Amino acid sequence: MTTNSFSEKVINWYESHGRHDLQWRKAITPYRIWISEIMLQQTQVVTVKPYFKKFIKKYPTLKSIKDASEDEILTLWSGLGFYKRARNIFQTKEIIHSEHKGRFPKTFEEIIGLPGIGKSTTGAIMSIAHKIPTPILDGNVKRVLQRYFSDGKSIFSEKELWSLSLSVSNAANSNLYTQGIMDIGATVCTPQNPECSRCPLSSNCSSAFLKIEAVKSKKITDLKTIKMELSLFVADQEILLRKIDDQEIWKGLWSLPYSNESSSEVNSYNIQLIRHKLSHRILEIDINLKKVSKKFMPKNNFQYQWVKVGDVENIALPKPIKKIIENHGKENPL
Ligand code: SF4
Repeated sequence: MTTNSFSEKVINWYESHGRHDLQWRKAITPYRIWISEIMLQQTQVVTVKPYFKKFIKKYPTLKSIKDASEDEILTLWSGLGFYKRARNIFQTKEIIHSEHKGRFPKTFEEIIGLPGIGKSTTGAIMSIAHKIPTPILDGNVKRVLQRYFSDGKSIFSEKELWSLSLSVSNAANSNLYTQGIMDIGATVCTPQNPECSRCPLSSNCSSAFLKIEAVKSKKITDLKTIKMELSLFVADQEILLRKIDDQEIWKGLWSLPYSNESSSEVNSYNIQLIRHKLSHRILEIDINLKKVSKKFMPKNNFQYQWVKVGDVENIALPKPIKKIIENHGKENPL
């Protein structure tokens, strides 16, 4: 089988079975592909969809995001997790506007140097948006190549997989090929129970119809637990928030103050212990609701603000913190 027929099969399949309805697949620009690719890193398509829609509604183009602050970008990212990606978007758009005259760079070398953009994301932008054949190697594509070229007896190294990806990605329609191989990995050659019967590559795939061992996911009990005790200060339907500094989890976002940051409470009671699973750890957050007679500012080096409970939508908050505020921000301690 020639590499040509590999890519042609992928393209033919993509044209009739690909996920053409995804919003970032419409009106393709390097900017839209960049934002979607960053959002899709470590996050499923179904989760990304509403965030992409909201983001593009507010910032439809590179020009429109020019003056956005890091805080504004983090607010749109609130709940999506892995917030470093949002900070990278802020830094990258700053570089594009200061060093590339506000135009998305066109060469591999210029793109791969931007914050948060690795080799595979560069490949996606180059091949899908600029239509310049460039290999990609995200988790889905790795799986397809690994299975296609090996029946499981040999496991390819990262370097070998890149070279295999390059060998099959040299298609005339690189934009269609790249989207097609991504979609085959995501919807057909899935981690468990791949659907070889509807795969366009099955006639030459080394693993077609073999029993694929299910990959066991890491048990939640294997993860490290981090405990924190936070205070939900309430005064006149407003709550006190603190900006998270560089040394902490969720850096750059807003959260609730730690319980030992201020002792100004009048009435206080423990309301909730929540467990929140992140990718590599579990957070155990103990929340104390504290009613204060009037607003105050703790005296230390952190940055604070009081906000109306109804306005938390417009603040860059981690998902569990937002939930706590929505559930308890209007409660009245005894
Ligand atoms: S034939 Fe099966 S194992 Fe091979 S690439 Fe297609 S879905 Fe994956």
